[in-house]
Amino acid sequence: MTEMTRRTFLAASSGSLVIAAFGSRGTAAPADRPWYATMRRCGQLNLNERDPLTLDVASWIDYWSSLKLDALLLNGGGIVAFYPTDVPYHHRSEFLGSRDLFGELASATKARGMRLVARMDCNYAYEDALKAHPEWFERNRDGSPRPHNESTWLYKTCMFGPYFTAQMAAIYREINKRYPVDGFFTNGWPSTGDLTVCYCENCQKVYGAIGGAPPERVDASDAGYRKYYDAYMNRVLDVWAGWQKVVTEARADSVYVGNLGGGIRTVKNVKRLGETAHWFNADHQGRAGDTAIWDCAQQGRVAQSVMKGRTITNVTGAYSNSRPTWRHVTKAPAETTMWLAQTAASGMVPWFHWLGGAPEDTRWKEVGREFFTWLANNEPHFRNTRSIADIAVLYPQRTIAFYRSSGAGAWRGVERAQTADYLQGLYYALLEGRFAFDFVHEDDLRSETLQRYRALLIPNAAYLSDDHCRQIREYVAGGGSLLATFETSRYSEWGDARSDFGLGDVFGVTATGAAIGPLGNSYMRISAPHVTLKDFNGTALVPGPENRVPVRARSTASGRAAPQAPLTVVPNYPAFPPEMVFPRTPRTDEPAAIFQENGRSRLAYFAGDIDRTSWRSGSTDLSLLIQSTVRWLRGDAQPLVAVDGDGVVELFAWETEPGYALHLLNYTNPNMTRGFFRRFYPIGPQKAAFTVARGKKIAAVRALRAARALSFTQDGDVVRFEAPAVNDYEVIALT
Ligand SMILES: [Zn+2]
Repeated sequence: MTEMTRRTFLAASSGSLVIAAFGSRGTAAPADRPWYATMRRCGQLNLNERDPLTLDVASWIDYWSSLKLDALLLNGGGIVAFYPTDVPYHHRSEFLGSRDLFGELASATKARGMRLVARMDCNYAYEDALKAHPEWFERNRDGSPRPHNESTWLYKTCMFGPYFTAQMAAIYREINKRYPVDGFFTNGWPSTGDLTVCYCENCQKVYGAIGGAPPERVDASDAGYRKYYDAYMNRVLDVWAGWQKVVTEARADSVYVGNLGGGIRTVKNVKRLGETAHWFNADHQGRAGDTAIWDCAQQGRVAQSVMKGRTITNVTGAYSNSRPTWRHVTKAPAETTMWLAQTAASGMVPWFHWLGGAPEDTRWKEVGREFFTWLANNEPHFRNTRSIADIAVLYPQRTIAFYRSSGAGAWRGVERAQTADYLQGLYYALLEGRFAFDFVHEDDLRSETLQRYRALLIPNAAYLSDDHCRQIREYVAGGGSLLATFETSRYSEWGDARSDFGLGDVFGVTATGAAIGPLGNSYMRISAPHVTLKDFNGTALVPGPENRVPVRARSTASGRAAPQAPLTVVPNYPAFPPEMVFPRTPRTDEPAAIFQENGRSRLAYFAGDIDRTSWRSGSTDLSLLIQSTVRWLRGDAQPLVAVDGDGVVELFAWETEPGYALHLLNYTNPNMTRGFFRRFYPIGPQKAAFTVARGKKIAAVRALRAARALSFTQDGDVVRFEAPAVNDYEVIALT
């Protein structure tokens, strides 16, 4: 924390109503690794207010200890104190009696050699606090407080007020003084979702400073929203850094961890959160509705893009957190296992979570114990040092958060999930093509980050700053290959339209108008042969994207002549009635895709949203087109990781402390995109070729789920082996 923010924080902590003056904030973690950096298993029992009446501490600690946990999260306080607190308006559990439940749990946890993290909740408080400290609470426009929608006797606290700086700090200090805790976690805050707009006196001061109250919904076209977004992020980071400071007053190796998550659908800037967080916890406990199974792995990739090997946990709900949700029954075991497996495969630490100290359903216990015991038995192979991937996918956070457009294209982003569909379509094609890839955050496009990747893939990053564009241009100039789609770089980072693409010189195109669509029954015509189109024997047409930017080819940044377009646009024509279904303009010169080669660098620009259209339509042709394009971009050299076999798998490859690990997640399942996994459908053997560091000699290859050694060959730096049939998940360790 800088001197400025520390002073402001202390001023606020002493009860003043000063709103933090926003400054830069400290980011450096200690040089030697803190305890949570080596944590690999984590669990949480989430107590309810009534639990002090009946909680059997010994049997619970026995259970968690049987999972070989490094750290256990247990309720300290916040909404409800589970110990006899002396902090005014810190509500003691009304069932606490003479018990010090947190104290009992703390002693028992530490006696079994587990780290203890106090689980806190900073988001609600009781009516007596509301009466005594009206300035602690969020307000509606009419000044009324905001009760919880179900537990209506609780009121929402405001992050901009002294509840966060003074009251929570006082509670942390009291717990730190009385109990041997190793860290603090706050439920529900800050999250990566939408900003809250509140009208309390503290927020009015913030609005005064930025020139008025912001809109209540995400609207990056509004100048007030833009200012509020920055003010909001600054406050979150000031509070986070302030709490980190408070919890380390008594113990230098303690840690504060906030609650993040959101998978690929984030509004708050995760790059900035990652700079302040010592530990990134993703509260991404499960899926519902039509969410694809790989939602958890995506969470891992987003978090890795900003934490870069530092501590990340992901919560797995052992209860049935579907929609509707059931807090007190067990989720389908196969689903839980696959969620834990994705957490581990993507380099996060699993955090297994149950609610309530007196469960009437205990089926979840063995699901967690089985996975965690296996994890513990193979722990060294989950100590990753870096990922092995030759492809980078740009995580287009601003586009996902803010992408909207006015006029004819206004449908885009109306349903917010749609802004993630470009990434989702590319992602599914990469799974089908079995590529090893990493996410890179759009705010981390430095050459140090990008130089190790052969290609950068950009799924419609419509909102990019001039600086983002400059970094991408430099990557290409340095020999990097690039895929970009649709409106990539068409707008500034806040969504102001540019007169042309920010990267038009790189793509080799000029926009000739606004985006066209959504329109079905349009096509891409194969107008000239190209290696990416060799799988399309027997057809002159490929499905057209639902939306496209009309473009013409232009000379490129390097001064080369306008590139050729092997795919050209066949504009939409009626799909009904059948008598009317014939092309009115069967041939045009309008490029649907531009491919260029410039030394080592290969470039592919698609004028349409082929990624999003592929996802929404399920078109196999569009997925194949993306896959063949990525293969062409990567070049002819041996991929770092290649896995051939049947099934839909996601793969992660890591350099580990003992060697290397190849993770295979088996998604081949009728419930891959809807409903919980009921069971697994094993896939047959997988032939793998894995590139190790030059000169590295591999002595053993072992399948950790199957628990057996594999035969292998090594030819130079390429190790070849056949992974056995994969039931749910397999990890092949190369040492
Ligand atoms: Zn407020």
